[in-house]
Amino acid sequence: MTPARPKEGSPSAPPKRAARVALLDVADSPVGRWLLALRDLEARVLLTVPGLEALRAEWAPDVLVLVRPTAETLRALLRPDASGEVVLLTDDDTLDSAGVHAVLAGSPPPNALRCTLLAAARHHQEHQALRATELLQARLLGLASQLGALSSPEAVAERALEGALDALAAPGTGALLAVRAGSGAPLTLTGSGRFSRVETELDVPAEVVEQLHAAIGLGGQVARDGLALTIGLSGTAEVAGALYLERSELPPSAHDLCAMFARLVGQAISNAVLFRQSTVDALTGLYSREFGLHRLNQTLALGARHGQATSVLVLDVDHFKRVNDTHGHAGGDVVLTALGALLLDSLRAGDFATRLGGEELLVVLPHTEEAGAMIVGERLRRLVASWRGQHAGEELQITVSIGVACAYPPERLAHELLGRADDALYAAKGGGRNRVVCAGG
Ligand code: GH3
Ligand code: MG
Ligand code: MG
Repeated sequence: MTPARPKEGSPSAPPKRAARVALLDVADSPVGRWLLALRDLEARVLLTVPGLEALRAEWAPDVLVLVRPTAETLRALLRPDASGEVVLLTDDDTLDSAGVHAVLAGSPPPNALRCTLLAAARHHQEHQALRATELLQARLLGLASQLGALSSPEAVAERALEGALDALAAPGTGALLAVRAGSGAPLTLTGSGRFSRVETELDVPAEVVEQLHAAIGLGGQVARDGLALTIGLSGTAEVAGALYLERSELPPSAHDLCAMFARLVGQAISNAVLFRQSTVDALTGLYSREFGLHRLNQTLALGARHGQATSVLVLDVDHFKRVNDTHGHAGGDVVLTALGALLLDSLRAGDFATRLGGEELLVVLPHTEEAGAMIVGERLRRLVASWRGQHAGEELQITVSIGVACAYPPERLAHELLGRADDALYAAKGGGRNRVVCAGG
Protein backbone atom coordinates (compact mmCIF):
# COMPACT_ATOMS: atom_id res chain seq x y z
CA MET A 1 0.00 0.00 0.00
CA THR A 2 1.24 3.38 -0.87
CA PRO A 3 1.17 5.77 2.02
CA ALA A 4 -1.39 8.57 1.71
CA ARG A 5 0.24 11.71 0.38
CA PRO A 6 -0.81 15.03 1.78
CA LYS A 7 -3.44 16.63 -0.40
CA GLU A 8 -2.44 19.43 -2.69
CA GLY A 9 -2.80 22.81 -0.99
CA SER A 10 -2.68 21.43 2.53
CA PRO A 11 1.00 21.63 3.57
CA SER A 12 1.92 20.00 6.85
CA ALA A 13 3.16 23.32 8.32
CA PRO A 14 0.44 25.89 9.06
CA PRO A 15 0.54 28.97 6.85
CA LYS A 16 2.78 31.57 8.33
CA ARG A 17 0.90 34.47 9.91
CA ALA A 18 1.64 36.83 12.71
CA ALA A 19 0.86 35.36 16.09
CA ARG A 20 -2.35 36.59 17.68
CA VAL A 21 -2.84 37.52 21.30
CA ALA A 22 -6.09 38.73 22.79
CA LEU A 23 -5.80 40.52 26.10
CA LEU A 24 -8.73 41.05 28.40
CA ASP A 25 -8.39 44.51 29.88
CA VAL A 26 -4.73 44.15 30.80
CA ALA A 27 -3.20 46.85 28.65
CA ASP A 28 -2.16 48.73 31.73
CA SER A 29 -0.46 45.85 33.54
CA PRO A 30 3.26 45.00 33.12
CA VAL A 31 2.43 41.83 31.25
CA GLY A 32 0.06 43.74 28.97
CA ARG A 33 2.61 46.43 28.22
CA TRP A 34 5.25 43.82 27.56
CA LEU A 35 3.04 41.83 25.17
CA LEU A 36 1.85 44.93 23.32
CA ALA A 37 5.45 46.06 22.80
CA LEU A 38 6.52 42.80 21.17
CA ARG A 39 7.15 42.74 17.45
CA ASP A 40 6.06 39.78 15.24
CA LEU A 41 2.82 39.73 17.17
CA GLU A 42 -0.71 40.98 16.65
CA ALA A 43 -2.27 41.96 19.91
CA ARG A 44 -5.76 43.17 20.63
CA VAL A 45 -7.14 44.45 23.87
CA LEU A 46 -10.76 43.85 24.77
CA LEU A 47 -12.47 45.44 27.69
CA THR A 48 -15.35 43.01 28.24
CA VAL A 49 -15.94 39.26 28.16
CA PRO A 50 -18.61 39.53 25.41
CA GLY A 51 -16.18 41.60 23.35
CA LEU A 52 -13.53 38.93 23.77
CA GLU A 53 -16.06 36.21 22.86
CA ALA A 54 -16.91 37.96 19.63
CA LEU A 55 -13.25 38.48 18.73
CA ARG A 56 -12.52 34.86 19.48
CA ALA A 57 -15.08 33.69 16.95
CA GLU A 58 -13.97 35.91 14.07
CA TRP A 59 -10.21 36.37 14.67
CA ALA A 60 -9.09 33.04 16.26
CA PRO A 61 -6.44 34.25 18.67
CA ASP A 62 -3.70 31.82 19.65
CA VAL A 63 -3.42 33.05 23.21
CA LEU A 64 -5.88 34.65 25.60
CA VAL A 65 -4.33 36.62 28.42
CA LEU A 66 -6.44 36.99 31.54
CA VAL A 67 -5.07 38.83 34.53
CA ARG A 68 -6.76 37.99 37.81
CA PRO A 69 -9.93 36.72 36.13
CA THR A 70 -13.03 36.34 38.29
CA ALA A 71 -14.61 32.88 38.59
CA GLU A 72 -17.42 34.11 36.37
CA THR A 73 -15.02 35.21 33.63
CA LEU A 74 -13.25 31.89 33.82
CA ARG A 75 -16.50 29.95 33.52
CA ALA A 76 -17.44 32.03 30.51
CA LEU A 77 -14.10 31.73 28.73
CA LEU A 78 -12.60 28.35 29.57
CA ARG A 79 -14.39 26.19 27.02
CA PRO A 80 -13.00 22.80 26.05
CA ASP A 81 -13.78 23.45 22.39
CA ALA A 82 -11.46 26.46 22.06
CA SER A 83 -8.87 24.29 20.33
CA GLY A 84 -5.37 25.57 19.65
CA GLU A 85 -5.76 28.41 22.13
CA VAL A 86 -3.53 28.85 25.11
CA VAL A 87 -5.06 30.72 28.01
CA LEU A 88 -2.42 32.65 29.85
CA LEU A 89 -3.89 32.98 33.31
CA THR A 90 -2.10 35.18 35.71
CA ASP A 91 -3.18 35.95 39.22
CA ASP A 92 -0.41 38.49 39.51
CA ASP A 93 -0.59 41.69 37.50
CA THR A 94 3.14 42.29 38.00
CA LEU A 95 3.80 39.25 35.82
CA ASP A 96 6.51 40.06 33.28
CA SER A 97 8.42 38.17 30.63
CA ALA A 98 9.80 35.72 33.20
CA GLY A 99 6.26 34.89 34.33
CA VAL A 100 5.02 34.57 30.75
CA HIS A 101 7.90 32.22 30.06
CA ALA A 102 7.05 30.13 33.10
CA VAL A 103 3.34 29.86 32.19
CA LEU A 104 3.94 29.04 28.53
CA ALA A 105 6.70 26.56 29.25
CA GLY A 106 4.22 24.52 31.33
CA SER A 107 1.37 24.62 28.77
CA PRO A 108 0.67 22.10 25.94
CA PRO A 109 3.25 21.64 23.15
CA PRO A 110 4.08 24.99 21.64
CA ASN A 111 2.59 26.17 18.41
CA ALA A 112 4.24 28.89 16.34
CA LEU A 113 2.84 31.61 18.56
CA ARG A 114 3.94 30.11 21.76
CA CYS A 115 7.39 29.58 20.27
CA THR A 116 7.48 33.29 19.39
CA LEU A 117 6.32 34.28 22.86
CA LEU A 118 8.71 31.91 24.60
CA ALA A 119 11.63 33.18 22.54
CA ALA A 120 10.62 36.80 23.16
CA ALA A 121 10.30 36.19 26.87
CA ARG A 122 13.70 34.51 27.02
CA HIS A 123 15.28 37.28 24.96
CA HIS A 124 13.70 39.90 27.17
CA GLN A 125 14.99 38.19 30.29
CA GLU A 126 18.48 37.88 28.85
CA HIS A 127 18.44 41.53 27.83
CA GLN A 128 17.40 42.58 31.32
CA ALA A 129 20.07 40.39 32.92
CA LEU A 130 22.69 41.88 30.59
CA ARG A 131 21.60 45.40 31.44
CA ALA A 132 21.68 44.62 35.15
CA THR A 133 25.19 43.20 34.77
CA GLU A 134 26.34 46.27 32.86
CA LEU A 135 24.90 48.56 35.52
CA LEU A 136 26.55 46.52 38.24
CA GLN A 137 29.87 46.68 36.41
CA ALA A 138 29.63 50.47 36.10
CA ARG A 139 28.78 50.83 39.79
CA LEU A 140 31.57 48.55 40.95
CA LEU A 141 34.18 50.18 38.72
CA GLY A 142 33.07 53.64 39.90
CA LEU A 143 33.33 52.50 43.48
CA ALA A 144 36.76 50.95 42.91
CA SER A 145 38.09 54.20 41.44
CA GLN A 146 36.91 56.08 44.55
CA LEU A 147 38.78 53.59 46.72
CA GLY A 148 42.02 54.36 44.91
CA ALA A 149 41.88 57.94 46.23
CA LEU A 150 41.62 56.90 49.90
CA SER A 151 44.87 56.68 51.84
CA SER A 152 43.99 54.64 54.92
CA PRO A 153 43.23 50.90 54.69
CA GLU A 154 40.37 51.36 57.18
CA ALA A 155 38.74 54.02 55.02
CA VAL A 156 39.10 51.79 51.95
CA ALA A 157 37.57 48.82 53.78
CA GLU A 158 34.66 50.87 55.07
CA ARG A 159 33.82 52.48 51.74
CA ALA A 160 34.25 49.21 49.81
CA LEU A 161 31.92 47.44 52.17
CA GLU A 162 29.27 50.13 52.15
CA GLY A 163 29.32 50.14 48.35
CA ALA A 164 29.33 46.35 48.07
CA LEU A 165 26.34 46.05 50.37
CA ASP A 166 24.56 48.65 48.33
CA ALA A 167 25.32 47.15 44.93
CA LEU A 168 25.52 43.42 45.58
CA ALA A 169 23.45 42.34 48.55
CA ALA A 170 19.74 42.06 49.21
CA PRO A 171 18.13 44.77 51.39
CA GLY A 172 18.19 44.20 55.13
CA THR A 173 21.18 41.87 54.99
CA GLY A 174 24.79 42.32 56.01
CA ALA A 175 28.27 42.28 54.53
CA LEU A 176 31.66 41.73 56.11
CA LEU A 177 35.19 42.45 55.02
CA ALA A 178 38.06 40.64 56.70
CA VAL A 179 41.56 41.98 56.03
CA ARG A 180 44.97 40.87 57.21
CA ALA A 181 47.45 43.63 56.36
CA GLY A 182 50.76 41.81 56.66
CA SER A 183 51.57 38.17 57.36
CA GLY A 184 51.79 38.54 61.15
CA ALA A 185 49.04 41.14 61.46
CA PRO A 186 45.71 40.34 63.12
CA LEU A 187 42.56 39.89 61.06
CA THR A 188 40.51 43.08 61.16
CA LEU A 189 36.79 42.89 60.50
CA THR A 190 34.63 45.66 59.10
CA GLY A 191 30.90 45.08 59.00
CA SER A 192 28.00 46.84 57.38
CA GLY A 193 24.23 46.43 57.27
CA ARG A 194 23.19 44.09 60.04
CA PHE A 195 26.88 43.47 60.84
CA SER A 196 27.66 47.18 61.34
CA ARG A 197 28.44 46.71 65.04
CA VAL A 198 30.89 43.87 64.49
CA GLU A 199 34.30 44.43 66.10
CA THR A 200 35.86 40.99 66.44
CA GLU A 201 35.29 37.47 65.12
CA LEU A 202 33.40 36.72 68.33
CA ASP A 203 30.59 39.02 67.18
CA VAL A 204 30.04 36.92 64.04
CA PRO A 205 28.37 33.47 63.74
CA ALA A 206 31.00 30.71 63.74
CA GLU A 207 30.02 29.39 60.30
CA VAL A 208 30.53 32.85 58.78
CA VAL A 209 34.00 33.09 60.38
CA GLU A 210 34.74 29.68 58.91
CA GLN A 211 33.68 30.78 55.42
CA LEU A 212 35.79 33.95 55.68
CA HIS A 213 38.85 31.99 56.74
CA ALA A 214 38.33 29.48 53.95
CA ALA A 215 38.14 32.30 51.37
CA ILE A 216 41.21 34.19 52.60
CA GLY A 217 44.09 33.26 50.42
CA LEU A 218 41.83 32.05 47.62
CA GLY A 219 42.46 35.42 45.97
CA GLY A 220 39.65 36.35 43.61
CA GLN A 221 37.65 33.12 43.88
CA VAL A 222 33.95 33.17 44.57
CA ALA A 223 32.29 30.60 46.83
CA ARG A 224 28.54 30.32 47.27
CA ASP A 225 26.99 28.67 50.26
CA GLY A 226 23.23 28.88 50.30
CA LEU A 227 22.56 32.52 49.50
CA ALA A 228 25.82 33.84 50.94
CA LEU A 229 28.71 34.74 48.70
CA THR A 230 32.33 34.77 49.88
CA ILE A 231 35.07 36.22 47.71
CA GLY A 232 38.78 36.04 48.42
CA LEU A 233 40.57 39.40 48.12
CA SER A 234 43.75 39.52 46.15
CA GLY A 235 46.23 42.27 46.84
CA THR A 236 49.96 42.15 47.26
CA ALA A 237 51.56 39.17 49.00
CA GLU A 238 51.30 41.17 52.23
CA VAL A 239 47.55 41.72 52.17
CA ALA A 240 44.94 38.98 52.30
CA GLY A 241 41.26 39.04 53.04
CA ALA A 242 37.75 38.09 52.07
CA LEU A 243 34.43 39.74 51.37
CA TYR A 244 31.28 38.06 52.68
CA LEU A 245 27.88 39.03 51.32
CA GLU A 246 24.83 37.66 53.02
CA ARG A 247 21.76 36.57 51.06
CA SER A 248 23.16 37.86 47.82
CA GLU A 249 20.66 37.40 44.98
CA LEU A 250 23.35 37.70 42.34
CA PRO A 251 23.14 35.41 39.34
CA PRO A 252 26.24 33.26 38.72
CA SER A 253 26.95 35.44 35.66
CA ALA A 254 27.82 38.28 38.06
CA HIS A 255 30.44 36.24 39.90
CA ASP A 256 33.22 37.35 37.57
CA LEU A 257 32.32 40.95 38.36
CA CYS A 258 32.46 40.22 42.08
CA ALA A 259 35.86 38.62 41.63
CA MET A 260 37.07 41.69 39.71
CA PHE A 261 35.70 43.97 42.44
CA ALA A 262 37.41 41.91 45.15
CA ARG A 263 40.69 42.19 43.20
CA LEU A 264 40.35 45.98 42.98
CA VAL A 265 39.47 46.24 46.70
CA GLY A 266 42.49 44.07 47.53
CA GLN A 267 44.73 46.32 45.45
CA ALA A 268 43.33 49.52 46.98
CA ILE A 269 43.89 48.14 50.49
CA SER A 270 47.40 47.00 49.57
CA ASN A 271 48.22 50.46 48.23
CA ALA A 272 46.83 52.11 51.37
CA VAL A 273 48.87 49.73 53.54
CA LEU A 274 52.04 50.54 51.56
CA PHE A 275 51.31 54.26 51.81
CA ARG A 276 50.83 53.94 55.56
CA GLN A 277 53.98 51.87 55.98
CA SER A 278 56.04 54.49 54.20
CA THR A 279 54.50 57.53 55.87
CA VAL A 280 53.54 56.48 59.39
CA ASP A 281 55.84 55.30 62.17
CA ALA A 282 54.51 51.95 63.41
CA LEU A 283 55.32 52.49 67.12
CA THR A 284 53.92 55.99 67.67
CA GLY A 285 51.36 56.28 64.83
CA LEU A 286 52.95 59.66 63.96
CA TYR A 287 54.40 60.52 60.56
CA SER A 288 57.72 58.88 59.73
CA ARG A 289 60.76 61.19 59.65
CA GLU A 290 60.94 61.30 55.86
CA PHE A 291 57.25 62.02 55.30
CA GLY A 292 57.06 64.49 58.21
CA LEU A 293 59.98 66.52 56.82
CA HIS A 294 58.35 66.46 53.38
CA ARG A 295 55.14 67.84 54.94
CA LEU A 296 57.16 70.49 56.83
CA ASN A 297 58.77 71.64 53.57
CA GLN A 298 55.35 71.86 51.93
CA THR A 299 53.96 73.80 54.90
CA LEU A 300 56.85 76.28 54.85
CA ALA A 301 56.49 76.82 51.09
CA LEU A 302 52.75 77.48 51.48
CA GLY A 303 53.35 79.77 54.46
CA ALA A 304 55.95 81.76 52.48
CA ARG A 305 53.54 82.12 49.56
CA HIS A 306 50.56 83.17 51.67
CA GLY A 307 52.52 85.32 54.12
CA GLN A 308 51.80 83.10 57.10
CA ALA A 309 54.10 82.03 59.94
CA THR A 310 54.86 78.37 60.65
CA SER A 311 55.94 77.17 64.09
CA VAL A 312 57.69 73.96 65.07
CA LEU A 313 58.06 72.24 68.44
CA VAL A 314 60.84 69.69 68.96
CA LEU A 315 60.05 67.42 71.93
CA ASP A 316 62.57 65.10 73.61
CA VAL A 317 61.73 62.75 76.49
CA ASP A 318 63.72 63.61 79.60
CA HIS A 319 66.08 60.90 80.86
CA PHE A 320 64.57 58.34 78.54
CA LYS A 321 67.59 56.09 79.06
CA ARG A 322 66.41 55.72 82.66
CA VAL A 323 62.96 54.60 81.51
CA ASN A 324 64.60 51.89 79.41
CA ASP A 325 66.99 50.96 82.23
CA THR A 326 64.21 50.74 84.83
CA HIS A 327 61.36 49.22 82.79
CA GLY A 328 63.22 47.57 79.94
CA HIS A 329 63.02 48.44 76.24
CA ALA A 330 59.40 47.22 76.15
CA GLY A 331 58.51 49.70 78.90
CA GLY A 332 60.19 52.46 76.89
CA ASP A 333 58.12 51.46 73.86
CA VAL A 334 54.91 51.73 75.90
CA VAL A 335 55.91 55.32 76.72
CA LEU A 336 56.59 56.18 73.07
CA THR A 337 53.28 54.66 71.94
CA ALA A 338 51.39 56.63 74.59
CA LEU A 339 53.22 59.81 73.65
CA GLY A 340 52.18 59.37 70.01
CA ALA A 341 48.54 58.85 71.04
CA LEU A 342 48.64 61.92 73.34
CA LEU A 343 49.87 64.10 70.48
CA LEU A 344 47.41 62.72 67.95
CA ASP A 345 44.56 63.30 70.40
CA SER A 346 45.49 66.81 71.38
CA LEU A 347 46.59 68.46 68.13
CA ARG A 348 44.01 70.40 66.19
CA ALA A 349 43.20 69.61 62.55
CA GLY A 350 45.93 70.92 60.24
CA ASP A 351 48.70 70.47 62.83
CA PHE A 352 50.77 67.30 62.56
CA ALA A 353 53.39 65.36 64.49
CA THR A 354 56.38 63.36 63.31
CA ARG A 355 58.79 60.95 64.95
CA LEU A 356 62.18 62.44 64.07
CA GLY A 357 63.98 59.45 65.59
CA GLY A 358 64.35 57.69 68.95
CA GLU A 359 62.34 59.65 71.53
CA GLU A 360 62.53 62.92 69.65
CA LEU A 361 59.31 64.21 68.13
CA LEU A 362 58.42 67.17 65.96
CA VAL A 363 55.12 69.04 65.99
CA VAL A 364 54.35 71.42 63.11
CA LEU A 365 51.80 74.21 63.56
CA PRO A 366 50.89 75.93 60.27
CA HIS A 367 49.56 79.53 60.42
CA THR A 368 50.95 79.90 63.95
CA GLU A 369 53.24 82.57 65.42
CA GLU A 370 55.62 82.25 68.34
CA ALA A 371 53.12 83.22 71.07
CA GLY A 372 50.59 80.61 69.90
CA ALA A 373 53.31 77.96 69.61
CA MET A 374 54.44 78.63 73.19
CA ILE A 375 50.87 78.10 74.42
CA VAL A 376 50.63 74.78 72.55
CA GLY A 377 54.10 73.77 73.85
CA GLU A 378 53.15 74.49 77.45
CA ARG A 379 49.87 72.60 77.07
CA LEU A 380 51.70 69.55 75.67
CA ARG A 381 54.36 69.70 78.41
CA ARG A 382 51.69 69.63 81.13
CA LEU A 383 49.69 66.92 79.37
CA VAL A 384 52.76 64.63 79.19
CA ALA A 385 53.75 65.33 82.79
CA SER A 386 50.29 64.39 84.04
CA TRP A 387 50.16 61.16 82.02
CA ARG A 388 50.50 57.87 83.94
CA GLY A 389 51.02 54.51 82.26
CA GLN A 390 51.50 50.92 83.32
CA HIS A 391 54.02 48.31 82.29
CA ALA A 392 54.59 44.92 83.94
CA GLY A 393 52.68 46.11 86.98
CA GLU A 394 54.77 49.23 87.43
CA GLU A 395 53.74 52.83 86.93
CA LEU A 396 55.25 54.80 84.08
CA GLN A 397 55.66 58.55 84.16
CA ILE A 398 57.73 60.95 82.05
CA THR A 399 58.39 64.58 81.29
CA VAL A 400 59.46 66.24 78.03
CA SER A 401 61.60 69.23 77.16
CA ILE A 402 60.40 71.29 74.23
CA GLY A 403 62.25 73.67 71.89
CA VAL A 404 60.06 76.09 69.92
CA ALA A 405 60.99 78.02 66.76
CA CYS A 406 58.98 80.05 64.31
CA ALA A 407 59.53 80.80 60.60
CA TYR A 408 58.17 84.09 59.26
CA PRO A 409 57.83 84.61 55.52
CA PRO A 410 59.85 84.59 53.36
CA GLU A 411 61.85 82.04 55.39
CA ARG A 412 61.26 78.55 54.03
CA LEU A 413 64.28 76.43 54.92
CA ALA A 414 63.33 73.52 57.15
CA HIS A 415 66.86 72.71 58.33
CA GLU A 416 67.43 76.25 59.57
CA LEU A 417 64.15 76.31 61.44
CA LEU A 418 64.79 72.87 62.96
CA GLY A 419 68.33 73.97 63.90
CA ARG A 420 66.90 76.87 65.92
CA ALA A 421 64.32 74.60 67.58
CA ASP A 422 67.11 72.13 68.46
CA ASP A 423 69.13 74.94 70.08
CA ALA A 424 66.04 75.90 72.09
CA LEU A 425 65.57 72.24 73.12
CA TYR A 426 69.21 72.11 74.23
CA ALA A 427 68.59 75.22 76.32
CA ALA A 428 65.48 73.60 77.86
CA LYS A 429 67.54 70.54 78.82
CA GLY A 430 70.28 72.77 80.23
CA GLY A 431 67.71 74.77 82.15
CA GLY A 432 66.58 71.72 84.13
CA ARG A 433 64.29 69.82 81.66
CA ASN A 434 60.45 69.57 81.79
CA ARG A 435 60.19 73.03 80.27
CA VAL A 436 59.44 74.90 77.02
CA VAL A 437 62.04 77.27 75.57
CA CYS A 438 61.59 79.49 72.53
CA ALA A 439 64.45 80.04 70.07
CA GLY A 440 65.92 83.49 70.56
CA GLY A 441 63.60 83.96 73.56
P1 GH3 B 1 67.86 63.61 78.00
O1 GH3 B 1 66.94 64.06 79.06
O2 GH3 B 1 69.12 64.36 77.93
O3 GH3 B 1 67.18 63.57 76.65
O4 GH3 B 1 68.22 62.13 78.37
P2 GH3 B 1 67.95 60.81 77.60
O5 GH3 B 1 68.17 59.67 78.48
O6 GH3 B 1 66.58 60.86 76.99
O7 GH3 B 1 69.05 60.88 76.51
P3 GH3 B 1 68.99 60.60 74.97
O8 GH3 B 1 67.98 61.47 74.34
O9 GH3 B 1 70.39 60.69 74.46
O10 GH3 B 1 68.57 59.08 74.97
C1 GH3 B 1 67.70 58.54 74.05
C2 GH3 B 1 67.45 57.11 74.42
O11 GH3 B 1 66.27 56.67 73.79
C3 GH3 B 1 68.54 56.20 73.94
C4 GH3 B 1 67.83 55.02 73.31
O12 GH3 B 1 68.16 53.81 73.96
C5 GH3 B 1 66.38 55.29 73.56
N1 GH3 B 1 65.57 54.97 72.39
C6 GH3 B 1 65.69 55.44 71.15
N2 GH3 B 1 64.75 54.89 70.36
C7 GH3 B 1 64.00 54.05 71.14
C8 GH3 B 1 62.88 53.18 70.91
O13 GH3 B 1 62.35 53.07 69.80
N3 GH3 B 1 62.39 52.48 71.95
C9 GH3 B 1 62.97 52.58 73.20
N4 GH3 B 1 62.45 51.86 74.18
N5 GH3 B 1 64.02 53.35 73.44
C10 GH3 B 1 64.54 54.09 72.45
MG1 MG C 1 65.88 62.29 75.72
MG1 MG D 1 66.99 62.19 72.47
